[in-house]
Amino acid sequence: MPETFKHTFDTAVFKGDVSVPLGLYIDGKWVDGANNTTIDVINPTTGKTFTKIAEGTPKDVDTAVAAAHKAFETVWGLNTTGSDRSRLMHKLADLMEANGDRLAALESLDNGKTFHFAKNTDVEHAVACIRYYAGWADKILGQVIETSEAKLCYTRHEPIGVVGQIIPWNFPLVMMIWKIGPALATGCAIVMKPSEFTPLTALLMSQLIHEAGFPPGVFNLVNGYGGVVGQAISEHPRIEKVAFTGSTLVGRKIMEAAAKSNLKNVTLELGGKSPTIVFDDADLDQAVKWAAFGIYFNHGQTCSAGSRIFVQEGIYDEFLKRFTEHTKTLKVGDPFNPENFQGPQVSQQQYDRIMGYIDSGKEQGATLHLGGSRVGNEGYFITPTIFTDTKPNMKIVKEEIFGPVCVVIKFKDDADVVVQANDSVYGLAASVFSQNLTRAISTAHKLQAGTVWVNNYNMLHPNVPFGGYKQSGIGRELGEYALSNYTTTKAVQVNLHIKI
Ligand code: NAD
Repeated sequence: MPETFKHTFDTAVFKGDVSVPLGLYIDGKWVDGANNTTIDVINPTTGKTFTKIAEGTPKDVDTAVAAAHKAFETVWGLNTTGSDRSRLMHKLADLMEANGDRLAALESLDNGKTFHFAKNTDVEHAVACIRYYAGWADKILGQVIETSEAKLCYTRHEPIGVVGQIIPWNFPLVMMIWKIGPALATGCAIVMKPSEFTPLTALLMSQLIHEAGFPPGVFNLVNGYGGVVGQAISEHPRIEKVAFTGSTLVGRKIMEAAAKSNLKNVTLELGGKSPTIVFDDADLDQAVKWAAFGIYFNHGQTCSAGSRIFVQEGIYDEFLKRFTEHTKTLKVGDPFNPENFQGPQVSQQQYDRIMGYIDSGKEQGATLHLGGSRVGNEGYFITPTIFTDTKPNMKIVKEEIFGPVCVVIKFKDDADVVVQANDSVYGLAASVFSQNLTRAISTAHKLQAGTVWVNNYNMLHPNVPFGGYKQSGIGRELGEYALSNYTTTKAVQVNLHIKI
C-alpha cells in the first residue's frame, strides 16, 4: 500500500491539513510502482526533500492502459452519454472549488509559485476550464452532409480511445486540466504522467476524480521519469493519441516514438521566445506593467513568457527607466508570504540553467542592466533580470531561458520590428502595445505566433485556443479547437433507394 503525505500548513495565507496518497492511481485504486521504488520530491524554497512518491515503470503503464481500455469499452467512450460525463465533470469542479486552498498550497510547496497566484490564477482557471468542457460534453456534434436525395450522409465525432498525456512542472495543475478537460468531455480514457518535479497536485486531483465518481480506469495516473514512463506512453501500441506539453527537445522524441510505434496522433505544446512590442504611441505606464507581467509572471517559467522586449527608439530610454524601477518593486521570497510576487525557481537544475544563461549573456558582451544574482542562501531564488545592448545571435536573445530574464531591444519602425520579432524558431505568443488600434492589429496579423495579446499579456480564457506556430508546437489546446484532438470523424453513408 502506498504511503500518504500528511502536512499541516500554518502560513499567513493558508492554515489547514492536506493528505494525499503517494502511489500510482490505476483502475480506481492506489498502488505502488511495479519495482517498489520511489522518487524524491524537493521543496524549491529550501532545496530539501520533503516526501517521496511511487515511481512508475513501463509495466505500470501497461496495467494503466489495460484498465483504460476496459473502461473505454464498457462504461466510458460510446457507452456513456454526454450529459452523464458533464454531470461528473461539474461534480469534479465543485470538489476542486471546495479544495481550492489545498490545491493552491500543494502547488506552492511543490513548484514554488506564490500561493496568491496558485489560488487566484491557477486554481481559478483550472475550475473554469473543467466547467467549460463539462458544458461541451453533450454538444459534440457531427454534420449532416447533403449529397443527393437518394442518400443520407452524416458524420459522427467519436472519442479517439485511450490517450496518453504528459505534462511539465511549470503549471502542474493547469496543464493537467487543459489535458483532461477535453479528453473527459469527449469520452476518452486517460493515462497521465505529471512531471517528476511537481507530482503533488495531480495526486490530490486523482483523489478528487475518484470522489467525483468517475468509473475506475477512466483516469489513470502513473508518476515517473520522462525517459521511462513518458517514453513508455509515447511508444505504447494501444494508446491512440499522445498530448504533450514540455520542451521542444522532448517534443521531438515524442513524435519519433509515436511514428515508430502505432503512428498515434500527437499534439505538442512546446517552448517559446515570445516578443513584446512597445510602440512609441503606447500608454507607457500600462506597457511597463504588462511587459513586466509578461516576463516575470510565474518566475519567467511560462512557455509564453515575453522574454524579448522590443521598444521603439524614441521612447526606449524612458521605457527602460520605468521598466527598471517597476522591476525593482517585485519582491522575491517565500511563496506563502503575500507580499512576494516571485518565489523560487522550480529546481536546482532549472536554477543552474538560468544562471548559465545569465553568465553567457555577460560573456557574449550584453550589458547586465539589473539583477542576475541569487537571493538568500537556500532554495532556488533568482532576482528579476534585465539585459540590454544585445546582438541578435546571442544565446540570451535566441534561446528559451525559462526564468526571470529578459532582453530589452531597440527598434526603428513597424516593418523593422516585425522582422526582428519573427526572427525565431519559435512562434508561441507575442504582444503589441499601441494606442493606435489599426497599427496594433495590422502588426498582430503579421506576427508568426499562435496568440497575440494587444495591450495585455498572459491573459488566458478556457474558450480561447492556445498553441504555437513553428517549433512551438502542433495543434491547439483550450476552446472548441481542443475537442478535435480527442475525437475522430466517421462518415456514415446511408443508401435510401439506389439499386445496384
Ligand atoms: P520537459 O520536456 O523536460 O518535460 C516535460 C514532460 O515530459 C515531463 O513530464 C517529463 O518527465 C517528460 N519527459 C521527459 N523526457 C521524456 C521522454 N523522453 N519521453 C516522454 N516524456 C518525457 O519540459 P519541462 O522542463 O517539464 O517544462 C518546460 C518546458 O515546457 C519549456 O520548454 C516550456 O516552454 C514548455 N511548456 C510549454 C507550454 C505550452 O503550452 N506551449 C506550457 C508549459 C510549458
